[in-house]
Amino acid sequence: MADSDIEKLQQIVDRSKRLVFFGGAGVSTESGIPDFRSKDGLYNQKYKFPPEYMLSHDCFVERTEDFFDFYRDKILAYEAKPNAAHLFLAELERKGRLSAVVTQNIDGLHQDAGSNRVFELHGSVRRNHCTRCGAFYGLEAIKAQRGVPRCSCGGVIKPDVVLYGEGLDEDTVSGAINAIENADAMIIAGTSLTVYPAAGLIRYFHGKDLVVINLGEAESVRGALTIHHKVGETLSQIKIK
Ligand code: NAD
Repeated sequence: MADSDIEKLQQIVDRSKRLVFFGGAGVSTESGIPDFRSKDGLYNQKYKFPPEYMLSHDCFVERTEDFFDFYRDKILAYEAKPNAAHLFLAELERKGRLSAVVTQNIDGLHQDAGSNRVFELHGSVRRNHCTRCGAFYGLEAIKAQRGVPRCSCGGVIKPDVVLYGEGLDEDTVSGAINAIENADAMIIAGTSLTVYPAAGLIRYFHGKDLVVINLGEAESVRGALTIHHKVGETLSQIKIK
């Protein structure tokens, strides 16, 4: 990573008053949670059915037991803690310099780090509801049960995670769009920008400074300062003044 890139990023963070961070699975790889599309990611492993099916609404309905086997094994298996990227963003928010984190992640690590304004486009593993009576359950309730998690009423408990084939929550999307539209700077990090409609939200940015931080290949974003490095390591070099 060139020193000049860090200097440019430092200047952008220094002059920004309404920064928005738009992140993806790569933001949590430094916490030990694998992403989907890197070389060692979930999509490059072999399963009976492709991950797109295993994490789909159809699979949840048609093969509920297989869905939860995969979900527990591949999505809930990590005891992760926030890394330098999550902590940097929480501190930037505390200083009144970050207007929002917009994330495609479902792991809740931004909140663990102390961020409050987080738009979780794809929901969260921390929230779960009974499909019959609507009762709320936290993550531990899902982890504690084996097989298909059941509510005390007998209904199946479904994670509030946006599965393939399901729509995004409208309030979350409009909150994210509002934050992006009003931002003077945006950092896009750790995302392949291939999952729609989430990736399409970056087009609402009309501010001055755009930054992309990505370890590997990603869709190129016109006009952005692009840093090919780990997001946690990169942001830990930036001072919050
Ligand atoms: P993706 O797997 O498609 O892409 C991740 C990108 O991050 C890749 O381009 C990779 O090069 C980059 N990357 C990996 N580690 C990095 C690092 N340390 N620093 C900078 N860049 C890094 O992820 P996506 O675009 O978010 O789309 C995948 C979907 O999978 C999302 O919708 C998300 O909901 C879901 N997902 C979430 C988690 C999580 O919650 N932690 C984990 C896996 C997948």
